[in-house]
Amino acid sequence: VVYLDYNATAPLRQEALEAMLDSLGSVGNASSVHMAGRDAASRVDLARQRLARLLGCTPGELIFTSGATEANNLALRAGYASGQTLVTTAVEHPAILEVARAVTADGAGTLVELPVDRHGAVKLAPLEVACRQGKVAIVSAMLANNETGVLTDLGPIIKLAHEAGALVHSDATQYVGRLPLDLNELDVDMLSLSGHKFGAPQGIGALFVRRGISMPHRPLLIGGGQERGWRAGTLNVPGIAGLGAAAEAARTRLHDEAARIARLRHVLEDGLRSRLRDCRINGDRSARLPGVASVTFPGVPADAVLAAMPEIAASDGSACASGAPTPSHVLMAMGLSRQDADSTLRFSLGYATTENDIERAIAATARAVADVRAAMASTAK
Ligand code: PMP
Repeated sequence: VVYLDYNATAPLRQEALEAMLDSLGSVGNASSVHMAGRDAASRVDLARQRLARLLGCTPGELIFTSGATEANNLALRAGYASGQTLVTTAVEHPAILEVARAVTADGAGTLVELPVDRHGAVKLAPLEVACRQGKVAIVSAMLANNETGVLTDLGPIIKLAHEAGALVHSDATQYVGRLPLDLNELDVDMLSLSGHKFGAPQGIGALFVRRGISMPHRPLLIGGGQERGWRAGTLNVPGIAGLGAAAEAARTRLHDEAARIARLRHVLEDGLRSRLRDCRINGDRSARLPGVASVTFPGVPADAVLAAMPEIAASDGSACASGAPTPSHVLMAMGLSRQDADSTLRFSLGYATTENDIERAIAATARAVADVRAAMASTAK
């Protein structure tokens, strides 16, 4: 298989596998005071330090969770207060949009979804209006979009929100480990990530909560009070160790990997455009993650193209929604027609992608699109 679905999940990094195997081979609950417990706790401490170094924060500002979905739920529940306004963007992952809808409905408050332009850039005017009206409790905007890779310019959003006394959260799931991040510079109050997008195992992630931010905890899991009361339950030491090792590997290679992946993405897009002249690349060309190509093949259903090339692991925009046959809300928000949204493939590249993968993907896609077109033409006759 040519694996080009890193935005769905990335292959486990060797370093993460080794750290996990080592951890699985030792016994100990990180909360126990004996030596075995201290061994587990020291693995957790090391992972927390490594993740903190990747993010430019302190280890004490990180809460380990089961992934970004949980981190997002924790962040919006903690940062929102009944009767207030929550501002997010129309292109968020369902793990923000559905949570935002639920917390504002439960709290009888207002939800504002900021629209985007045709390049995927967030429009700020409705945020300015909401801030002027007051009562904005929290603004949540993703750093990088999972379907298009488009990056959000968070600076102006943070400024407006903070001037209005609102908290800022960012779902950085697709960004962390792919482009450099420094939480000393990026003044968000909370940030979510999921390890499996950058080479850690599935089922482990974290929420960053900036020190000194006053907020009620609204834990989803209560019990033994682990993670400073934010998330009770025995820590997943092997998962956490894998997350730390993947963070360390990603940090040390970030610049090289990003440059190499961007070059491969360029080859892919160029190759597709020269073979399939009417295809269109979605999203801002410069403000984009290096590894994502969202490509529309007008008139050709993406699910049929994928079915015609099972050896290429790509996705049709909506992979994260478990195959639900709804058109991509992200592409529709950018102004694509429903038909174009349904004719869009997402290729997402990552640290282990090779030139050979890209050549095979270009050839297979060109053939699959031509085959689907031919099949459609013959049934139309
Ligand atoms: N946010 C974004 C932007 C994502 O791409 C994903 C994963 N598709 C999530 C949140 C959820 O991550 P997880 O399923 O690991 O909780």
